[in-house]
Amino acid sequence: MLAAAKSSLHDLLLEELAAHLKEHGQPAYRARQIADWLYRKRVSSPGEMTDLPQALRMELAKQFESSKSEVVCILGSEDTTQKFLFRLRDGNLIESVLIPASPALYGEASDRRTICVSSQVGCAYGCKFCASGLEGWTRNLDAGEIVQQLIAVEEQSGERIDNVVFMGMGEPLANLKSVLRAIRIINAPWGLGVGARHITVSTSGLAPQIRQLAAEPTQFRLALSLHGATDEVRSRIMPVNRKYPLKVLLEACDDYVRRKRRIMFEYILIADVNDTEEQAHELAKIARRLSAKVNLIPYNTVEGLEWSRPSRLRQERFHSILRDHGIVATLRREKGHDIAAACGQLRLQTRRCEADASVLSSTSPALSS
Ligand code: SAH
Ligand code: SF4
Repeated sequence: MLAAAKSSLHDLLLEELAAHLKEHGQPAYRARQIADWLYRKRVSSPGEMTDLPQALRMELAKQFESSKSEVVCILGSEDTTQKFLFRLRDGNLIESVLIPASPALYGEASDRRTICVSSQVGCAYGCKFCASGLEGWTRNLDAGEIVQQLIAVEEQSGERIDNVVFMGMGEPLANLKSVLRAIRIINAPWGLGVGARHITVSTSGLAPQIRQLAAEPTQFRLALSLHGATDEVRSRIMPVNRKYPLKVLLEACDDYVRRKRRIMFEYILIADVNDTEEQAHELAKIARRLSAKVNLIPYNTVEGLEWSRPSRLRQERFHSILRDHGIVATLRREKGHDIAAACGQLRLQTRRCEADASVLSSTSPALSS
């Protein structure tokens, strides 16, 4: 089964690898050896796993896809966010963002290096302010393709990543199976070893999957992209709210909070859409109900979209209303260190990268001939 699908070795949990090897008459400890090559020595091609028997190496090479996603280009400088454009095995393009240690990530001092990963090619949810959803959904990523984003970014940047946010392209809860599998690999001591509390999944609000997550044992963090505190405002910018209106969504969140842990809210401030005092008061009520911390993010302009960010004064007024209600809220100040902004603009960056990449590929054959 596994072999027929031609998944990559990065797609497998340790126990699956062990079971697969057992079927082929191999001792269980071989799985550990292979995980060691993949995640410690960072070798993905079975042919190079020199302490495995030659016959096994050849068999694995036949059974599993050993080519990784290819880094097409890197945008940005080393002291701010860097964006990595990947070409997947089927030619589709995705992006990851590396955010260096920042003094004010989510309002907290953070010496962590964060990667913002994509979970899908495109996104089906079509939020009106978001670049990633503009061209619709193409396909889900498999867990191996998610894990490989970390591996490739660490390899290219020479930096060890210790914080992972699922805030790139796609809606992670619409690809829940692969995202949970990827989280297990990213978190596992035999895998990439990133602490569960340093893994955050962001969702636009898929209520049934939020309930499902409440039963998931791994203690990663959940962020909810709220962006509107009443159905009227939320539905205007997030079509998903018509499917799961606030009543349904918040009941699912109640369930999650009761059974699991806290939820953090993300709230983009968009001028004259969701930045009124009334919205701030409503948001405070919702945050109190769920004991949620609120992360206010000034909207980052997307070319071709009509929205803009409110004035600084208006942003601060909104913030202070939340605080007056006793809500813990942060307002993002540093533009360059804004995760959501960095991640919400993937499509535009992708275009720039694609243009560069096509120049490279069209000139190099000519040069060599
Ligand atoms: N689909 C998931 C995760 C990816 S989007 C979700 O919606 O939560 C990650 C975050 O970037 C979300 O909070 C999203 O609302 C935000 N975002 C999208 N476009 C943005 C923009 N133009 N400016 C600021 N944040 C944006
Ligand atoms: Fe998709 Fe999230 Fe963008 Fe909405 S904000 S279109 S759910 S990626």
